[in-house]
Amino acid sequence: MTETATQAGPAGQEGSPGARVELAGIVKVYGETRAVDDVSLTVEPGQFLTLLGASGSGKTTLLRIIAGFVDADEGRIVVNGRDISQVPVHQRGIGMVFQNYALFPHLSVAANVGFPLEMRGVRRRDRAALVERALEAVHLGGYGRRSPKELSGGQQQRVALARAIVARPPLLLMDEPLGALDRRLREAMQIEIRRLSRELGLTVINVTHDQEEALTMSDRIALLAGGRLVQHGTPEELYGLPESEVAARFLGESNLFRGRVRREGADSVLALPYGRVLVPGDTPGEREAVVVVRPSAIRIRPAGAEPSASVSRMPGVVSADIYAGDSRKVLVAGADGAELVVRCESGAPLPCSVGDEVVLEWDPGSCHIIPGAA
Ligand code: ADP
Ligand code: MG
Repeated sequence: MTETATQAGPAGQEGSPGARVELAGIVKVYGETRAVDDVSLTVEPGQFLTLLGASGSGKTTLLRIIAGFVDADEGRIVVNGRDISQVPVHQRGIGMVFQNYALFPHLSVAANVGFPLEMRGVRRRDRAALVERALEAVHLGGYGRRSPKELSGGQQQRVALARAIVARPPLLLMDEPLGALDRRLREAMQIEIRRLSRELGLTVINVTHDQEEALTMSDRIALLAGGRLVQHGTPEELYGLPESEVAARFLGESNLFRGRVRREGADSVLALPYGRVLVPGDTPGEREAVVVVRPSAIRIRPAGAEPSASVSRMPGVVSADIYAGDSRKVLVAGADGAELVVRCESGAPLPCSVGDEVVLEWDPGSCHIIPGAA
């Protein structure tokens, strides 16, 4: 690489590793609100982490603390072994993308993308090549002379992304970057951003409230609720092995059963007034538990059907049948009044219609016990 690229950013080469980011005990209090409440986690070089949570869960505050726009009340931010808590925003070497592109409307696309380079004192004639490369990376090669106003929303967001990566920051922060785009464009951009972050070896911390986006894009998800870190793990872990009811409810649809687990012969069973839920594994003694069953694991059978062996069974009455293109969502009122959700393939005929009595069945292996839950 040339001197220019070295000057342009700490990571000059393609695929150079991103930063390692450690958050240790971050706290931010606004009046009565603990916006961020003792969050600690580590993002490894090149990882794509999503901060996921409902509105008000503290995602933006945490991201702005990492960027340096907001000072934490407690805790440390360590990037590549160096505590940057006291380093000003513009010296942190971090790229940022916001939901509202924040492009300068009076500047050309190229001038927008070149802005961070200008701030770093990269000479004008050296900027052009770096700008064009960044534009090509987001598939906007040749768009430099246009005005942002002449671009669609998706293209503007790609310009914002090019601007965020032009100086090759080892860390890219994004706050709901796709929130303003329509669904198709959002999905296309999810794939694009993921490809780009892998190619460049960037460490990315992305904020979203959209669980699908988090599951699709991330190497790791940090689920936040009320400022606290609820669970941190791979998408598969958060979806398949939720450690709390909050996590089970937030990621995907779920059916939760609460009760006492006890032995019945060779089986462990969650005893409920209606139906029975088989629980995988040995149960040494009776204990309280919450069992999670995902809607796609459940089969619907007519009420009178011969019971299958070794399955969980729950009677109910079909209350709704909602067609959703590639799947159908069937709601079933359980005998205790709770509503259960079932996802079926939309192509297969349903053995029931709304108002019918049915039995729901699922294999014990497809349920998950929330550890320590009572
Ligand atoms: P999210 O991005 O997950 O929607 P935020 O980080 O924006 O959440 O907000 C977390 C909590 O902190 C909310 O209750 C919000 O009202 C509060 N909050 C955020 N910023 C401020 C501020 N500058 N002043 C007062 N309260 C704030
Ligand atoms: Mg926010």
